[in-house]
Amino acid sequence: MERLVILGGGESGVGTALLGKNTGFEVFVSDKGTIKEKYKQVLIHNDIKWEESSHTESKILNADLIMKSPGIPDKAPLVKQIRAMGIPVVSEIEFASNFTDATIIGITGSNGKTTTATLTHHILKQELNVGLAGNIGDSFAKQILEKDYENYVLEISSFQLDDIMDFKPHIAVITNITTDHLDRYDYKFENYIDSKFRITQNQTKKDYLIYDADDEVINEWLKNNSIQSTLLPFSLTKIIENGAYLENNNIKITIDNNQIIMPTTNLALEGKHNIKNAMAASTVAHLLNIRKQTIRESLENFQGVEHRLEHVLKINKVQYINDSKATNVNATYYALESMETPTVWIVGGQDKGNNYEELFSFVNEKVKAIICLGVDNEKLLNTFGNIVDIIVETQFMSEAVKIAYKIAEAGDTVLLSPACASFDLFENYEDRGRQFKAAVRNL
Ligand code: ADP
Repeated sequence: MERLVILGGGESGVGTALLGKNTGFEVFVSDKGTIKEKYKQVLIHNDIKWEESSHTESKILNADLIMKSPGIPDKAPLVKQIRAMGIPVVSEIEFASNFTDATIIGITGSNGKTTTATLTHHILKQELNVGLAGNIGDSFAKQILEKDYENYVLEISSFQLDDIMDFKPHIAVITNITTDHLDRYDYKFENYIDSKFRITQNQTKKDYLIYDADDEVINEWLKNNSIQSTLLPFSLTKIIENGAYLENNNIKITIDNNQIIMPTTNLALEGKHNIKNAMAASTVAHLLNIRKQTIRESLENFQGVEHRLEHVLKINKVQYINDSKATNVNATYYALESMETPTVWIVGGQDKGNNYEELFSFVNEKVKAIICLGVDNEKLLNTFGNIVDIIVETQFMSEAVKIAYKIAEAGDTVLLSPACASFDLFENYEDRGRQFKAAVRNL
């Protein structure tokens, strides 16, 4: 029996363990931290061996195959040792995709993955038997074991792509590429870009790559590298013969002379970035022959995803918006761009070496006050102090929201779009978003 060792006992690790056990592997799960109770119960219940709080080398280095959870960096000493010994290391999507013949739609990019994946799934599920997995909800591995989907929409991080060998989505989407996670890529942007493009590495002419043709990083890479995939770009600024583009507030998507036209005025989601996300999702749907009317209706009634420009409440004619998932400057750029009223902006958290320059013109034009919410707000105070009239700082969400409430006047918007990670004051971005919403509801 082949021995499958799984590093990391989270959603993808435990899902892989279940699938591995059911497909004839001897499975061992090892987590250096603690494993959540609900996952322990699953492992115990399924008679799968596991350990936590340490990695026992003698039980790991005898593996035939290792599944490394995406959170574990390559520079971890154990991973280095495993690689030096030549034991194959794969990610969950690589392992799991060997056990399904389903059509796979893989969605990656720096921003917009969850929104685009959820929206794509929302459209496809109207007419197809389709699952949504990857970084969302139940793991891909577990769904393959328990469900019988004919199609999967997968949200895929670069960490998952780093450890693929044969993984091949029939349709790949790269929403955009901006700097993020460089700590995991030797601080080299090109490594991170290569990692994103790995989604196309096994594609043939019969497979598709849908991508943002307005993204210079993507265009540059495509100029300098050759791939097999059939290209279907989307653009807000230029006419695209095969793919999607914008003309007079209409999205036009052409594939093999078959065109679909959809007005953007009816889109449920706001902001230019969401027009791009809608283009990407509809191109997938058009490729898979979803009816045009279904695509149009689905774009109109999509409810959006929590913590992404989520409209919370209107109080005294002030709209409160939760964009807690904006953990980098690019995401916040699109949030500010989509603001149509004077804005009180709550920003800050754990800085990732942010360069705020690209936000200056929006801040000048739209932001009437800034509330800095982080342990260390110095950089924000220095950067924006001269640009806005009101800038204050706090370490408490409830206080940030109360201050915003005092400043905002009828017709204004209060926007939480932090451009930073959340770990200095919160458990994660979901916790930050929930605290924001609770504070708003308490006003
Ligand atoms: P991801 O899963 O890649 O992190 P999300 O859909 O969760 O992406 O969105 C993350 C943040 O980026 C949110 O603040 C959202 O408003 C913003 N965003 C969504 N789509 C895009 C896009 N196409 N380009 C830039 N920012 C985007």
